[in-house]
Parts: sequence; C-alpha cells; structure tokens
Amino acid sequence: MTDFSGLNLAQPILRAIADEGYTTPTPIQLKSIPPLCEGRDLLGVAQTGTGKTAAFALPALHRLAEDGGKNLGKPQSLKPRVLILAPTRELAGQIGDSLRSYGRHMRLRLAVVFGGTPIRPQIRTITQGVHVLVATPGRLLDLMNRGQLRLDGVETFILDEADRMLDMGFIHDVKKISAAVSANRQTVLFSATMPKSVAGLAGNLLNDPVRVEVAPTATTAEKVEQRVLFVQKSKKRALLDELLNDKSIKRVLIFTRTKHGADRVARNLHDSGVRSDAIHGNKAQNARQKALRGFRSGNIRALVATDIAARGIDVEGVTHVINFELPNDPESYVHRIGRTARAGADGIAISFCDRDERAYLRDIEKTIRQNVPVFEDHSFHAAEIANDPGPAKRPQQQRRKKRPNQQRRKNPQRSRRAA
Ligand code: AMP
Repeated sequence: MTDFSGLNLAQPILRAIADEGYTTPTPIQLKSIPPLCEGRDLLGVAQTGTGKTAAFALPALHRLAEDGGKNLGKPQSLKPRVLILAPTRELAGQIGDSLRSYGRHMRLRLAVVFGGTPIRPQIRTITQGVHVLVATPGRLLDLMNRGQLRLDGVETFILDEADRMLDMGFIHDVKKISAAVSANRQTVLFSATMPKSVAGLAGNLLNDPVRVEVAPTATTAEKVEQRVLFVQKSKKRALLDELLNDKSIKRVLIFTRTKHGADRVARNLHDSGVRSDAIHGNKAQNARQKALRGFRSGNIRALVATDIAARGIDVEGVTHVINFELPNDPESYVHRIGRTARAGADGIAISFCDRDERAYLRDIEKTIRQNVPVFEDHSFHAAEIANDPGPAKRPQQQRRKKRPNQQRRKNPQRSRRAA
C-alpha cells in the first residue's frame, strides 16, 4: 500500500490530498492513519517535517465525515467535536491552515484560538459553532472560564508537540483541559521526544494506545547537505552578504542566538538590498505573522529567526538554512537544519563558526554522529580557527550548571508569555 487510496479515507479528503499534490503517504501517515480511523488512541513520536500534522488531521476529518459525508451538518454552539492543543501560536496557526486545506471539500467549520489577539471574534465564532478547534492552552482555559466553550462534546482530543508543551510549563493547563474533555473520546498525543514527563502524561491520558515512531533526530541531519565555514566573528556580516549574491539561495532561513542579533542581521541585510525580516519573541503577533506571510509568498527572501520563534515554522521550499551563530544546544542545530529538506526535498545548511563557537560545533558533530564538511576553498575561510582545537570543555556549559537563575527559564509564567 503506497498511495492514499489504500487508506480508505472519505472522498472529499482524498480530493483535498490530491489538490495538495501529495501522492504517497509518509511513514508516520502510513502507520497512524489506519488505527486512528478505527478510533484507537495513539502515541506518536515524530518531529515536524515528517508529515505528522496530516497523520492526525486526516483521520480526525475522516471521522467527522463518516456520519455526515460531504456536509458535516451544522456544528453545535460552543461545542467543538475535535480539539487540537498546540504549544505556540505559530504551530496552532499552521495546524489550522493544514486542516482548512484538507477539509476544503467538507464544509468544515474551524477556529484557531491563541493569546495575544482579541478574544471577542473568537468567542463569536465558537458561539456560532465549529467542528474543529485548534488552540494554545492559555487561551483555551480563558474561553472555558468565561463560559464561552464546552468540551463535553469533544470526540477527538489531540495534543501536538507535547514535549514542548511541558517544557513551556503547560502541564497544569493540559491536565485541567483534559479533565474537561468528555471521557468518552479518542486521544492522540504527538511528541518529538519522549522524556519521562511526556511518557507520564501519555500514561494518564491515553487508553491502550498504539505507539508509532519515525526517524530519530539523526536521520533529518543526514538528508541535509551541511557545510561549516570557519570565519572571524567580525567578518560574518560580509560573509553573509557575499553568500547571498548566489541566486540559487532563493528562500533562506538565518538563525541567530539572540533577538537583538536577529534584528541586527535583518537590518544589515536590508541595507545590503536583500529583502529580509526578523521573527522572534519580542515582536508583536501581527508583525510575526506578516513576516511569515512575506516569507511564504516569496516577498521576503531571507527570514532571520531565533530558535524559539522558528520552532514549528513550516514553510515549504526553504532552499537554505544559514546558522549565522551556532546554537549552544545540539538539538537546536538539528531542528534548525530540519527547516530545509522538508518532506523529501533537498536542502543545504551552512554554519558560520567563529573561534568561540568551536566547542558548540564539536557537541553538534557528536550528536549528529558525523563531521560537518568544511568549506575550505571559500575566500572567507579562516584556517587559523579551523586548526585551533579550542578549549577542551565549553565554558558556558560549566557555568550554566551553577547558575541559580537557570530554573527561571522553566518558570511557566515567563515561558507562557513568550509563547
Ligand atoms: P509536518 O511534519 O506535518 O510539519 O509536515 C511537513 C510538510 O510535509 C508539510 O509542508 C506538509 O504539507 C508536507 N506533507 C505532509 N504529508 C505529505 C505527503 N504525504 N506528501 C508530500 N508532502 C507532505
């Protein structure tokens, strides 16, 4: 079974899949769609880029269509039938966009709700009735507390990026929400990683789940053509300008470690005549959405982002990822380069590494279990940095362990605001 017709999905869904240009289900879709269509609970271990959204969205729509067919019937006021929880606004928005596409032949009513935007229009839509609600936990609870939402009619409850949800301190919110969802429901939990906390949550929420898993982290890295350029910190800006002279770099995501760094790089690019914008947690929601829209439509060639802002961003056709600064956490490197080479496409990731970042590169190479090839014949290549083994240990890492305020990063209030 290698095409979608073997999955017995409802006709309007198959038509939408064909409209999207999908011909073959991805491995996570092949494994998830049949048990989900049967109504089983499911625990999915999969990262963005594997096709996981369609893996849970298509069966949810199929089950909605099952009794109603093309016309799903009028949704009940305040009572969605499918609830999808996502940790960030960006991810919620993207899931909503996917569902709208997949449900386009079904008269689907859908709302996406998250904080940082006016609540009144959301209340109006939910009062009119939606089949599917996609939400971040904070705004969802707000709506429930105002009596503007009821979850006792939810037939399918989906949690996406559960690990991230817990990292951001949403555990209590998630528990409150799942207690309010009808007990007689199907529950689906997807997570990129499976730390104990997520396994514990899954144990509480899921009933005899099917477990599906695809491609561990390292395989993403294998699909991307990677290069590292050793360069003086002071020359990174000129190097970036030089690289972007290459017209084959059509849509490039550039990563910095800090929000200010992202703004600075975007400004510099703009001054050099490159259509660019920055996206990070300090930007207002509509500014972030505008930047993303511009990047998607091709109006913006270079989008500069921090790790948090970029997580879950799903833009097709990103030809290149450039690490203007290397992340101090190897997992972030894998997430970053995974923004290119999506769904089987090829992608190129170029990392700038200055003297202080040598240790980060070593950690990354250990994690991805490969050496990143060096761009030695580039005019900016700094052999003295390439040949300098650098300190044996990362000074930041040693310091980090002792820092008492490290805990603060896990503070739910702070993280929630950042979302
Ligand atoms: P996700 O892992 O859900 O973020 O999906 C990654 C990307 O793959 C999205 O751009 C989807 O539109 C795309 N995609 C999902 N399923 C398929 C498929 N079966 N064939 C081709 N592209 C797909």
